[in-house]
Amino acid sequence: MVIETKSPEETFQLGEELGRKAVPGQVFTLTGDLGVGKTVFTQGLAKGLGIEEPVNSPTFTIVQVYEEGRLPFYHFDVYRIGDVEEMEEVGFDDYVMGEGVSLIEWADLIEEILPEKRTEIRIEKDLEQGFDYRKITVEKLE
Ligand code: ADP
Ligand code: MG
Repeated sequence: MVIETKSPEETFQLGEELGRKAVPGQVFTLTGDLGVGKTVFTQGLAKGLGIEEPVNSPTFTIVQVYEEGRLPFYHFDVYRIGDVEEMEEVGFDDYVMGEGVSLIEWADLIEEILPEKRTEIRIEKDLEQGFDYRKITVEKLE
């Protein structure tokens, strides 16, 4: 599925819709350059899960846990990861195999430890289409 958005609000809404439909144990992986809209999408997804508190990229921790929504939400940002072993240390496997919803920004950096069953979200710019244009590809892998 390919969705084209023309504003941050539209990307947020796509995230919100997927958050509303998310099921226990679902894993979302996000890829795309810095500033492309991964966190905007994530904020929408959190809203769709019923999380009201502000969601930002976890800068000093790899994972941020939100318990107040319809399902637990585990938000990973692995941009600063040095080695995939750091993921084991934070209990990555337990999160992704748990009953909550996991989302990983910069998932391509930890490709080798991603679960096969996941919903891949790829966000791309195309400056010829305008500064706020984003092409978002959603692909369910089994
Ligand atoms: P990332 O997490 O990928 O580094 P952010 O979500 O933090 O990126 O930032 C995305 C930036 O791009 C925000 O400043 C947002 O307002 C802007 N933006 C412009 N157009 C869009 C769009 N269509 N979708 C998402 N973000 C957009
Ligand atoms: Mg981000």
